[in-house]
Amino acid sequence: MERGGDCVERNRSERAKVASVAERKPPARNPAAKNIPATRIDAALASCRLCPRECGVDRLAGERGFCRAGAVARVAAVSVHHGEEPPISGTRGSGTVFFSHCNMACRFCQNYPISQMGNGRDMDAETLAGELMRLQAKGAHNVNFVTPTPHATHLVEAVLRARVRGFSIPVVYNTNGYDSLEALELLDGVVDIYLPDAKYRSVELSSELSGTPGYVTGNDAAIAAMVRQVGFLSEGKDGIAVRGVMVRHLVLPGRVGETEAVLARLAGTFGPDLPLSLMGQYFPAWKAPRMPGLDRKLTGREYARAVAAAERLSFSNVFIQEQ
Ligand code: SF4
Repeated sequence: MERGGDCVERNRSERAKVASVAERKPPARNPAAKNIPATRIDAALASCRLCPRECGVDRLAGERGFCRAGAVARVAAVSVHHGEEPPISGTRGSGTVFFSHCNMACRFCQNYPISQMGNGRDMDAETLAGELMRLQAKGAHNVNFVTPTPHATHLVEAVLRARVRGFSIPVVYNTNGYDSLEALELLDGVVDIYLPDAKYRSVELSSELSGTPGYVTGNDAAIAAMVRQVGFLSEGKDGIAVRGVMVRHLVLPGRVGETEAVLARLAGTFGPDLPLSLMGQYFPAWKAPRMPGLDRKLTGREYARAVAAAERLSFSNVFIQEQ
């Protein structure tokens, strides 16, 4: 199983940190959101608007929207991973739950058997809660839900059930960043750490490469809501993340100009202290080998240009990859 965040490979090499994430006192979880009624969770699935596509399908009745996700969670794998950024993986690893299906359709997705073809097995909330307990018992620093958007309600239900059983480690929401405000409201008080992608600034590119023309608008609103909820990523004394947002961006071959636009927007909106992870591990997968320009790896020079852009914008908390 490749480590995959949403539609891109996340099997990182050891990361180097350009500057340290400041140790900050984490804000408390939102106590009002700790007990979300089952009716509210069901209502969200009865007319699905968990992402900005707002398909409105009744998943409880067997209808499927763009992502093809159904009434119960579908999980491709559960395991402890060590390839995330150091504050997430730490020394004991991040307990990762890979959900099947995806609300985007990235032509270069390295997890396409899971995201686009739906490989995995159905899992009810109680079973998923048991998996969370097992990951905690294994010593994982956190539980890390990958491609969680179509399964946001299942995530909430499983975490709340697990918390009754003593689950207490941070919950990481590892998303493509195309999440609705409705979903994020459900997640308030349940998710501790958001790892959203910021993939594009160009509507044309988000349409052409990811089949998601509304990405830029949806992504802007989602990241802003996440930051309002939990602030920037903060770490405990042991250097392990406890709460907050870190934005990820995958640099695409031949598209460093897009990276520069994404970084400029993030710096302009959130300031240079926004924790950022610049990913350079692109390689052609899924349909990309047949797409001119996307049929090659990123060059070291392109990645260096992306890092230079982050430095120019004075980002102070940036994770970069050894090339
Ligand atoms: S999560 Fe899936 S069904 Fe729900 S709105 Fe998004 S694409 Fe449609």
